[in-house]
Amino acid sequence: MTYDYDLFVIGAGSGGVRAARMSAAYGARVAIAEEYRIGGTCVIRGCVPKKLFVYASQFGEAFEDAAGFGWQAPPASFSWTHLLAQKDKEIDRLNAAYTKNLKTSGVDIFEARAVIKDPHTVVLAGERAITAKHILVAVGATPFKPSISGAEYAITSNEAFHLEALPPSIVVVGGGYIAVEFAGIFNGLGVETTLAYRGTEILRGFDHDIATQLHSEMEKKGIKVKTQSDIASIAKKGAGYALTYTDGSHQEAALVMYATGRVPHTSALGLENAGVVLGAKGDIPVDKYSCTNIASVHAVGDVTARAQLTPIAIREGAALAETLFNDNAQAVDHSIIPTAVFSQPQIGTIGISEAEARTAHDIDIYEARFRPMKHTLSGNNEQTYMKMIVDKASDKVLGLHIIGADSGEMIQAFGVAITMGATKAQFDATIAVHPTSAEEIVTFKTPR
Ligand code: FAD
Repeated sequence: MTYDYDLFVIGAGSGGVRAARMSAAYGARVAIAEEYRIGGTCVIRGCVPKKLFVYASQFGEAFEDAAGFGWQAPPASFSWTHLLAQKDKEIDRLNAAYTKNLKTSGVDIFEARAVIKDPHTVVLAGERAITAKHILVAVGATPFKPSISGAEYAITSNEAFHLEALPPSIVVVGGGYIAVEFAGIFNGLGVETTLAYRGTEILRGFDHDIATQLHSEMEKKGIKVKTQSDIASIAKKGAGYALTYTDGSHQEAALVMYATGRVPHTSALGLENAGVVLGAKGDIPVDKYSCTNIASVHAVGDVTARAQLTPIAIREGAALAETLFNDNAQAVDHSIIPTAVFSQPQIGTIGISEAEARTAHDIDIYEARFRPMKHTLSGNNEQTYMKMIVDKASDKVLGLHIIGADSGEMIQAFGVAITMGATKAQFDATIAVHPTSAEEIVTFKTPR
């Protein structure tokens, strides 16, 4: 049987683009379909614009901190429209670069929605059918909003990147990393911000001490953090909205944003036509080589609900290209993932939390809580907190969790050692870099 392509990729995001380019480099005939913009969530409406907004939102505090160092900043003013225009320019540049890179790799691009017709056929925008030996589903995930009355009034992260004007006040609903990041962005840009989360503490799944530290730092910066607060309904009121919580309490806000998780983008994709079985949450279950229950259909990235992070999607896409077209079957190790939360202050984390560690290990905890040197003069009362979890029997570092400036950068570097299985003794043998915050990690003396 001959096919139009060796690989047809649905979705030009982090995972799809990597798989397409690498497969083409290995000599495969590759096409990719994208229904929105090439680059996908991370580049177009995720990590990249989010981090640009985080930078923008930190200047107000930086101006205040500068006074302690003798700077008299002129009265600062901020233009949201200027920020949006600058951000759009950068996203356009990245979108063009991704498109060019695909083309120069020899990948055919179809700027259209694709649906699956059978295990070897996709149909573009309801018209053209294309056959492929392998189909890769890399369609990502999409923001989830609960079906409460008035949910249609709430925005998600998709719209947050295109607001015509900043609202005077906002309620960000959710307790995950996207919710805390956006709460920090809006607060830093001068919006009266509430974070409403139905759970007992924000950042479920993260180390508890890190979550409580962020909770308190967010409050110190002026964010109203309401846990155990679930919204029952949203109604229009004047230029804004009236929110009713399940406990009967009320709140008014100019804008409501839901950041309550992301669901796999599998609806109306035609997966059933190919016989692909879906998971309970609409995700696509795959084996360790990213193959679905149908041998010619593969899936990588957020749609597989393994770990919804860009570097994971990229790794899975690369591993698939190795497996299919380089005679080098590769499985991605999801057991240890360093990651950052661009909250204010930032979080960097790798390995298991203290609670998780206690279920299976006899552990020592090393920790430090301190005011970073910069804030001795700035007067800012932000605290840094670091926690290392060590297995007593093997001396292996099981987890490292940091909240404080630059902790994302720190965890990327420490992540190499921890991924290699470094012991506490090896951290101790490392000479400190002084004066830094990170030196605390190699000078921990006494366990808690
Ligand atoms: P995506 O990048 O979502 O790409 C899927 C693509 O498929 C999309 O472009 C979509 O339009 C397209 N598509 C869908 N269906 C079809 C179809 N039928 N036909 C054609 N095209 C289709 N991750 C991090 O690691 N760090 C971060 O700081 C971070 N911040 C984030 C902030 C926000 C606000 C959001 C929303 C996400 C963030 N993420 C972050 C997560 C990251 O963006 C995703 O994990 C990553 O993009 C997943 O890549 P993917 O290839 O699985 O899917």
